[in-house]
Amino acid sequence: MTTIGILGGGQLGRMLAMAAARLGIDAHIYCPDENSPAARVSAAVTVARYDDQEALTRFADSVDAITTEFENVPADTARFLTTHRPVHPSADALEIAQDRVLEKTFLNDTGIGTAPWRNVDTLDDLAASLDEIGPHGILKTRRLGYDGKGQARLDGPDDIAEAFETMNGAPSILEGLAMFEREISVIAARGTDGTVHCYDPGENRHSDGILRETTVPADIDGATYEEALAIAGRIVEALDYVGVIGVEMFAMPDGTLLVNEIAPRVHNTGHWTIEGCAINQFEQHVRAVCGLPLGDPARHSDAVMQNLIGDDIDALPALLAEAGAAVHLYGKGDARPGRKMGHVTRLG
Ligand code: AMP
Repeated sequence: MTTIGILGGGQLGRMLAMAAARLGIDAHIYCPDENSPAARVSAAVTVARYDDQEALTRFADSVDAITTEFENVPADTARFLTTHRPVHPSADALEIAQDRVLEKTFLNDTGIGTAPWRNVDTLDDLAASLDEIGPHGILKTRRLGYDGKGQARLDGPDDIAEAFETMNGAPSILEGLAMFEREISVIAARGTDGTVHCYDPGENRHSDGILRETTVPADIDGATYEEALAIAGRIVEALDYVGVIGVEMFAMPDGTLLVNEIAPRVHNTGHWTIEGCAINQFEQHVRAVCGLPLGDPARHSDAVMQNLIGDDIDALPALLAEAGAAVHLYGKGDARPGRKMGHVTRLG
């Protein structure tokens, strides 16, 4: 095994390529953007559209296995590549995670709890749905939402028209507002041989729908810990998944866990594993996708990972001067509001 192909050129691809390098594996990035953060640390890059079959074929011929670094790579692209090389996660897994209706249906069919939800195509659907699962709820586009984008909060019938307008006619779902005690996530990995390894759950703090901080260990009891890992295990088995997946959960006051989202890739809430574990989530994913044995996910330290978003990056000189602060920068140009520029991890 010498080359892993990665669809997508963002910071997750960049950290995957760096982890692959540690195993002596080259990365070949495929993405539509020139000069992407991942391409700049990789052995090869193809800049082309995700529907360019000629470029995809050449890319597939030059690599040994293929993966993705963001979940909105078109499932058809993954399906096409599967006729040339092993592709993990599978097109089916991507398809499920790309559409909130398919995702929640899959989870509920697998016996996993979610916030109550309803399909919303029309203003009347929204009014009826809010009546059933409101008065508080979050309207989300079915597809292409991330970091709180494509979402509108409702606190009663007065908010219906404006929230519906925000979706711009896109098919949506209404979720009941989960009054969670805390948000946690499990980073799980499944190998080609069916081995499943999970990292310790992290506790996540968001604001404006964007992850700010992940702390490990999460402040949960032993039963919740076991249940969180069991849920992640059921998801990867049901998907016949290979690779790393992020499973975001709401821990409810009554001790139950509801799954908010599954992300079929390495995950922002797993960045702490770079400093906190001998084998981090990026290497674990490369191992799985390349058919190598998984590594031990044991955590040797407590850790807090803080995202550097937008002008957080202005604090860089102080962060670099801070003892014990492990700074990661993604090599992005301008620090636009809401843009993830890097992160910093502190072991405790
Ligand atoms: P998402 O884009 O679905 O991951 O949502 C981003 C963040 O918004 C989550 O991490 C939560 O903090 C919040 N959120 C999303 N859905 C709900 C919900 N049904 N109830 C309460 N908070 C939510």
